[in-house]
Amino acid sequence: MELPRIVVVGKEVIGKIGETLQDLELGTRAIILSGPNVRDIVSGPVNNSLKESGFSCSWELVGPSNFEEVERVTSLTKSKQANFLIGVGGGKSIDIAKLASFNSKIPFVSVPTSASHDGISSPFGSVKGLDRPYSIVAKPPIAIVADTNLISKAPHNLLVSGCGDLISKKTAVKDWELSHIKTGEYFGRYSANLALLSANMIMEDAGMISAISEEGISVVVEALISSGVAAGIAGSSRPCSGSEHLFSHAMDIVAPSKGLHGEKCGMGTIMMAKLHGLDYGEIRKTLKIIGCPVRANQIGASSEEIVKALVLARSIRRERYTILEEARLTEDSARKLALDVGVIP
Ligand SMILES: [Zn+2]
Repeated sequence: MELPRIVVVGKEVIGKIGETLQDLELGTRAIILSGPNVRDIVSGPVNNSLKESGFSCSWELVGPSNFEEVERVTSLTKSKQANFLIGVGGGKSIDIAKLASFNSKIPFVSVPTSASHDGISSPFGSVKGLDRPYSIVAKPPIAIVADTNLISKAPHNLLVSGCGDLISKKTAVKDWELSHIKTGEYFGRYSANLALLSANMIMEDAGMISAISEEGISVVVEALISSGVAAGIAGSSRPCSGSEHLFSHAMDIVAPSKGLHGEKCGMGTIMMAKLHGLDYGEIRKTLKIIGCPVRANQIGASSEEIVKALVLARSIRRERYTILEEARLTEDSARKLALDVGVIP
């Protein structure tokens, strides 16, 4: 298993990033990847802190999230002889840092500016242009520096999406258990329990999270980090991604750009929980409290798109056994399922 060596979560911790990284013996040359807005906001304190701690760094703006961009950053890493990469951002910059550092066999540091999914700490990266809609295996970050003050300024729907991604561990773990029984697939109790713990934290603290307090944001950030760590321990995304993620990936195909990853996973969790015989009402209630979409029209999707995605989901990742193999949803049974749990009217 590969795990991060340092995880720092707290107010203004980004201004101490140099000190935080000093003991890791990463070498002195870093390339920092981000978008233009993030650079404008944080480059001052980050550059100062890194320089004070003896690092030399250059800032690089990342382009579109695709393989060409990963290749470009990989070559840049070689030509600049960088010792490590720092990805600062929501998803794209961290994914590109993760994949380019994996290609270059150097470590990377994750500095999330929002809490929208568990990719901030997981070994899995996702860019467009893959031959499949799900993530590929790379390496987890060597360090995570999560500044809750910075994250609290991100749009609210990103935090809400992170909660949807976390609640989805409820059905992901059930799918993994089911596969263990039905196919004999290895099941890691420790990583499964760690992933479930992340989901349960969101269930328990939903009220605090909905109040958008600093404390609530810390809960979500820490839960996302431990969920990514659970995947690192399992050596696969199994504890974090099951049938509900297949539904989300299917929605990416059926209705691209409608809803965020975690929003679609949350909605998928309600429906897959019903198939698993779990208390889907409790999951739905929690998502509602947090402000996470529970109905198709809240993400601008039609009933037809939801039904299509439910039917398509099973064919997306056939090697991954889930409840969808047993349910074998048809258009009629998919419609009934979405209707029964209130996702479509
Ligand atoms: Zn996810």
